This record gives sequence, C-alpha cells and structure tokens, in this order.
Amino acid sequence: MTAAEPPQPWQWPEATWREHVESVRAGRRLVPSRWPGGARAAVAISFDPDHETIPLRDGETSPGRLAQGEYGARVGAGRVLDLLAEHHVPATFFMPAVSALLHPEEAKEYASEPHEIGVHGWIHERNTLLAEQDERTLISWARDTLAEITGSVPTGIRTPSWDFSDSTLDTIRQLGFDYDSSLMADDEPYEIVAEGTPTGLVEIPVDWIRDDAPYFTMDRYGSVRPYTRPRDVLEIWIDEFDAAYRDGGVFQLTLHPHVIGHRSRLVVLRELLAHIRAHRDVWFATHADLAVAARAEATRLDTAGASS
Ligand SMILES: [Zn+2]
Repeated sequence: MTAAEPPQPWQWPEATWREHVESVRAGRRLVPSRWPGGARAAVAISFDPDHETIPLRDGETSPGRLAQGEYGARVGAGRVLDLLAEHHVPATFFMPAVSALLHPEEAKEYASEPHEIGVHGWIHERNTLLAEQDERTLISWARDTLAEITGSVPTGIRTPSWDFSDSTLDTIRQLGFDYDSSLMADDEPYEIVAEGTPTGLVEIPVDWIRDDAPYFTMDRYGSVRPYTRPRDVLEIWIDEFDAAYRDGGVFQLTLHPHVIGHRSRLVVLRELLAHIRAHRDVWFATHADLAVAARAEATRLDTAGASS
C-alpha cells in the first residue's frame, strides 16, 4: 500500500466508523399510547406514482420502457384510487415532479381530500450521486412544481433513492419539511438525530419488505428474475399488519401504480384492505397525519421530561 491510498474500512480508527454511524441516526421512537380517536394501531398506505420517470432518470427513452411506466398512469392509478375510495382509505402519493407534469390531473387528485401529495424528487434522480447544490435545486423545484400544479404545498419528502447523500438531511431541514419517509431504522416513526443532536424531523420509516417493487419487478435482460406470487406477498403484509396491530404501532406500506395496478396484483391490495378494515380500532392516516401525531408525542415526551 502506498501512502496516497485511503485506509480500508478494516483499518479505520474507531473515531472514523463512529462518525459515519452517528451522522444520521434514529432517536426517540414517537408512538403515542393511543392513536387519534383512541385507535390501537395506525395504518399509513403510500404510493410512489413514478410512472415514466424510472426509465427516464437513467436516460432510457425507448417506447417499450416508457410504456411500462405509462401503464401506471393510464391503468394503475385509476384502479388504485377507486379501491381506496371503496374502502374509505386515505393515502399519501409521493410523486416525482416530472411525473406530475406529465399527468397533472392525476397529481391534483392525489392532493385532494382525503389524500396527500409528497415530494419524490424531480425525475426520480439517483439523489445520493448528486452534488449538494444540484440536489437542493431539484428538491426545491420538485416541491414548487407540485405546489403549482395542485395548489397545495407538500410537507413531506421521500427521497427517490430511499437514501441520503451527505447533504440530504441538511437540505430537507433547511427547506422546512415536516417529515421524511426514506429510511429504515425502525418499524415505528422516530426522530432523526444528526451527529448526536435531535433534529425535530420525523422519520416515517419504509422497508423493502413492505414495498411491492422488489417482489414483482424484473430486469428484462438480467438472467435472474425473482418473482413472488402475489398471494404470498399478501400473507407477508398481513403478518406485518397483524404484528403492528398487536404492538399498537404503525403498519406502513409503499406501492407503485405501475406495479400493484395489474389485475392479478390488485387482488392483494383489495384483500389486504378488507383484512385491515375488519379491525374496528385502526386509524387510517396519511403520512402527514402520522407526522403530526408523532410530533405531538415528541412534545408530550419533552413536557414529561421537563416536569420530572
Ligand atoms: Zn420511486
């Protein structure tokens, strides 16, 4: 090894690996003893209507690739909205700005009661690869564009890469977002801690387990094509919900209209919502509603701490 080469991770001093781990960390878990309305558990369903932006962000512009995304807007979105209305379930739609510009009427529906629209990047860019200023510009543009199209300013963000660059956390705090929904340190909402300091920013965690894409999507030219039977996925999500219900916590789910909107898969969402609806004491919340409840719990903990 020459002197110019950076040390390998196994050569890092303790201060180095601690610094990496501490940069963005999970702080207090923000789960009230009862959810609004006295509910035992909370359910927060989200959709990422990425549509054409998945191929576009990689510069893939062929009609075949774009058509797969177009299906989400043309077929999936309507089916999803009808199903949510049928079950009286609110949802949060994290929509890339380019997707909203391509489908403005759809974006307006997402921003209308009882639903919520949230930021999901400009063109679903790989945000962890961007320079700080570029990432900041795209998040600002994305929020302003959704606000312009829908008339309501998004308060939440889900980063397109489900990950942070070195500057993402500072950027979303400075832009005044109330919550993020991109990280995976817990099943329940928590406060993000930056370099040991609580930020006040609520994290509503996601997980690949509760995302339709890893189970159902495939790479056309890849030799490995994982596929899970939709009804097996239903079983996984019911197990996730049942445990969240027992724990008095949150069941959070991420779906994509171009993935779940297919006939054989929509069955899963229909049966899942029916299963959850069979429980009386469940609070169906948008992610913004959930962030408000989490912040109220943080305030309660602060007050309890101050008076003890
Ligand atoms: Zn996405």
